[in-house]
Amino acid sequence: MSKVLIIGCGGVASVAIHKCCQNSDVFEEICIASRTKSKCDALKEKLEGTTKTKITTRQVDADKVDELIALIREVQPDLVMNIALPYQDLTIMDACLACGVNYMDTANYEPEDLNDPEWRAQYEKRCKEQGFSAYFDYSYQWAYKEKFEKAGLTALLGSGFDPGVTQAYCAYAQKHLFDQIDTIDILDCNGGDHGYPFATNFNPEINLREVSAPGSYWENGHWVEIPAMSIKREYNFDQVGQKDMYLLHHEEIESLAKNIPGVQRIRFFMTFGQSYLTHMKCLENVGMLSTEPIEFEGHQIVPIQFLKALLPDPATLGPRTVGKTNIGCIFTGKKDGQQKTAYIYNVCDHQECYAEVGSQAISYTTGVPAMIGAMMLLTGKWNKPGVYTVEEFDPDPYMAALNQWGLPWQICDNPALVD
Ligand code: NDP
Repeated sequence: MSKVLIIGCGGVASVAIHKCCQNSDVFEEICIASRTKSKCDALKEKLEGTTKTKITTRQVDADKVDELIALIREVQPDLVMNIALPYQDLTIMDACLACGVNYMDTANYEPEDLNDPEWRAQYEKRCKEQGFSAYFDYSYQWAYKEKFEKAGLTALLGSGFDPGVTQAYCAYAQKHLFDQIDTIDILDCNGGDHGYPFATNFNPEINLREVSAPGSYWENGHWVEIPAMSIKREYNFDQVGQKDMYLLHHEEIESLAKNIPGVQRIRFFMTFGQSYLTHMKCLENVGMLSTEPIEFEGHQIVPIQFLKALLPDPATLGPRTVGKTNIGCIFTGKKDGQQKTAYIYNVCDHQECYAEVGSQAISYTTGVPAMIGAMMLLTGKWNKPGVYTVEEFDPDPYMAALNQWGLPWQICDNPALVD
């Protein structure tokens, strides 16, 4: 039925590609294009013969709009799935506009070079005006809204788990469970153990940038920013158990604050073990998380990129990781004049994911919703010209697809709340 161009072939893309190949009725043909073509070829070789989906591969540098335009014109896809890095969001959106093709991704834009003066000026203005200092925000991609509307094209932003599924949970709660949502706590728990003293579950550079930054949350119409890891809570997660979790800034808070009418507070918590935090603090203290290039033996190196080369590739954690993830949203609010609480969540088992697609649950919980988001666009269920996040569409077909394609969810009434 459809042809899709998938950009990127890392941990998350590999899962999305496996799931597209399980869903050949929708994904009749896929072209996998990435910086390192050999990874695309290896995945094609693994999947061919197991699927009716026709697979081709290409090399592309997605930082270059001209290369992307040439590739899109050659492949002629119905949709471009950006599963590379957030650094490439804008170049790929530009290329989609130039070629008249729909777009989707799993994470919002952030620049690779934090010292770019033009970006820096806009960033500092936003920090002052809005009160949160994360390096990423939606403004860069929301700025494309009119262009996508005029072109009659849809851009779906952030269809992973968080962002992504968490926003579908919010839209579902708004549509079916509450008349008014007062508070949302997004809880992201990884109870998995990979046996390494320190490794990240997805791209180390993006992951470490995110968790070493100040936390922030939305309350009564404005942002409250706090020092990194300074709000800690404990929570007893279904099928995982008691875990420490820390308040982080997270991108979906920004769009949910706009799209859930009257919401008073939105927070995001992620679990971390003590070993992870101790390693991260130490690496930060010695400058290894820095994104500033330094001169080393005649070469320019970026410390966090050098660290990435030393750390285990998240795509290789699959066979070693045991345990489960539990990710979901706790809501408080009102229904029919009564106070009410609800918790919507998914539990995912690392080893079951590995047995199915050869990846651990973090890549799985992101790659499956990437395929589902693409399916929503390709089957016409979610097409509306413009630039949108997941909660701006009807959650019902997406929630049904989560149950069908490997991420079943459940609703718990009267859950324990986070203070
Ligand atoms: P990886 O680093 O494993 O994979 C990234 C892929 O993009 C690699 O194949 C890489 O190529 C390719 N790539 C990088 N730069 C370029 C470029 N300039 N041109 C072409 N290809 C390029 O990352 P993950 O799979 O862990 O993460 C993918 C995305 O998913 C990220 O945006 C991440 O933020 C997002 N994510 C979203 C989550 C959510 O819940 N919403 C959760 C986890 C991740 P090469 O192989 O050569 O390095």
